[in-house]
Amino acid sequence: MQVLFGGTFDPVHDGHIAMVDHLRVTFPSATIHVIPNNRPPHRNSEVSAHHRLEMLQLAMSHLQDIRINRIEFERPGPSYTIDTLNGLRELFGNDESFVLVLGADAIRKMDFWYRPRAVPLLCNICILNRAGERVDIPSVLAEMNEISDGGLLDNLPSGYLIRLQTPDLFVSSTLVRSLITKGAKQLPVPPKVADYLVKYNLYQNTE
Ligand code: ATP
Repeated sequence: MQVLFGGTFDPVHDGHIAMVDHLRVTFPSATIHVIPNNRPPHRNSEVSAHHRLEMLQLAMSHLQDIRINRIEFERPGPSYTIDTLNGLRELFGNDESFVLVLGADAIRKMDFWYRPRAVPLLCNICILNRAGERVDIPSVLAEMNEISDGGLLDNLPSGYLIRLQTPDLFVSSTLVRSLITKGAKQLPVPPKVADYLVKYNLYQNTE
């Protein structure tokens, strides 16, 4: 089983680390691929993709069963999820179970993705459902079968949807960027990432 956790990681923070830990417990037999996008399709970052990748490596490369996957750095142009899924299918074949992890914010924007209807044909989907929140399923995923036992996904390559109940951690990359601009000394990021942010003076000019 291959669990795919993509994002901009602009920058990586303690919430991402907590989610990866949660995924490791939920899918113990899986390899977890953390997939930073190279060129996010719907936003710009003031920090280069290289810096975002470096910080991700500092934060996670020592964790067991985690692979920082650079597949989106191998393609020019916007980093569309559908292209990543097709690329990974070429590597792993059609019988491998894929679980694409999406937070509530990503799910809400899914109707506006590039070729979203093809996504459930290529993978299962795990929705990160934060405490106290009920994420609505977008119309492009309406045909998916919802199941509650993550263990079943081991033998199912695609087409199933699972909600993972996660703690509500009040941290986001937006919050980290804003704290840096305000000159905060303590940031909700791993210590090595905090050092890197200072060393390269990153996110000092965030609006
Ligand atoms: P931004 O604030 O810039 O939008 P972000 O903190 O949401 O960024 P992303 O890199 O966009 O970070 O997130 C990657 C994935 O991690 C997404 O699926 C997102 O929903 C999820 N995620 C981010 N922060 C948390 C959190 N605190 N708890 C649970 N999931 C999170």
